[in-house]
Amino acid sequence: MLKTTLKNYAKLLAKTGLNVQKGQQVVISADLENADFVLLAAEECYRAGAERVDVEWTHQPLARLHAEKRSLEQLSRVLPWQEERLRAEIRTLPARLYILSEDPDGLAGVDAEKYASAAQARSRIIKPYRDRTENKYQWCIAAAAGNAWAKKVFPGETAARAEEKLWEAIISTSRADGNPVANWNAHNADLAQRCARLNSLRLASLEYESSNGTRLKVGLMPEGRFAAGREKTLSGVEFNPNIPSEEVFTSPKRGEAEGIVYSTKPLSYQGQLIRNFSVRFEEGRAVEVHASQGEAALKKMISADEGAAYLGECALVPYDSPISRSGVLFYNTLFDENAACHLALGKGFPECVEGFGSLSEEKLRALGLNDSMIHVDFMIGNEDMKITGITEQGARVRIFENGNWASETDA
Ligand code: ZN
Repeated sequence: MLKTTLKNYAKLLAKTGLNVQKGQQVVISADLENADFVLLAAEECYRAGAERVDVEWTHQPLARLHAEKRSLEQLSRVLPWQEERLRAEIRTLPARLYILSEDPDGLAGVDAEKYASAAQARSRIIKPYRDRTENKYQWCIAAAAGNAWAKKVFPGETAARAEEKLWEAIISTSRADGNPVANWNAHNADLAQRCARLNSLRLASLEYESSNGTRLKVGLMPEGRFAAGREKTLSGVEFNPNIPSEEVFTSPKRGEAEGIVYSTKPLSYQGQLIRNFSVRFEEGRAVEVHASQGEAALKKMISADEGAAYLGECALVPYDSPISRSGVLFYNTLFDENAACHLALGKGFPECVEGFGSLSEEKLRALGLNDSMIHVDFMIGNEDMKITGITEQGARVRIFENGNWASETDA
């Protein structure tokens, strides 16, 4: 990959993704194998005005070693100095850049029960701190090619060629060719227009239908709204939390989902692949799941806590999105979620509720926004996905036809 292309991509993450503010602190989380790219990203963050850039290095083989060698109790702990840091970040509000490159099943064979239990225990400690910084700082999740990941996506290629091809796929699907910042200004404007049109319809529910057996009706909150692309912190700083991002999404009303959905892509969850699965909902709750692979991980996931069996997101993504058209299966939700319509189990998005900035957490729950320590997307879109919106007055509006936006949703 050309250095100038990577430099432009790094600039996109710092300027459009994080929109680093003058004097702000930045924390980058990335794998050791991407040290060269992290250096470029850090340079761009400083250029954008960061006062300090810190890097949290990760290394999947090491995570694997910890998972094997540490007791459940050790693996579940958040040490006092780590908590102190979380507390400090409530004040400093650093912008956070997450650069993903991990092997989608790099933790296969690790005791999934132990790993998930430990992650849940740590989340319980971390969540109250995170809740206090929610919507107050900019964050961005993006990707860099990793060795093992590349081999998984392009198994027929040599290691070097696979990595090159994965970089090419990341750059093109992230709209980072040419002038990435200009591409994203146009893309953000487009998504904003689509949201405005959907919000003007005042939908009360969505009905999903597909020839693979999917038949699901999901209720929406009267105060709910669709969002996409660019977001804003409570202090008004715009940022793009996901690069790439093609989805227009909302958080549905807790307790109102009836029917069954079938997955259309495998899901990589905590280093385990879950394939060919279905989820059946009753009164909003996932009451029955099946999978041809990873069923235990799926069951564990929906029982993570009380809210883990309820929906937190409904996202609309056309079947002809750039990622879908690339034909590449990334085995990574950041990409695969932008290739197909998807749902997420777990936490809903406060920013999908009108006037969320002045609403307490209790009020958001009361309006029907789900809460959980998990938020896991899974893909349900395909080439014949049909979605009908039902307005508050009971009118039926075609939202999706044959996997793509129906003309009724054009602004
Ligand atoms: Zn999504």
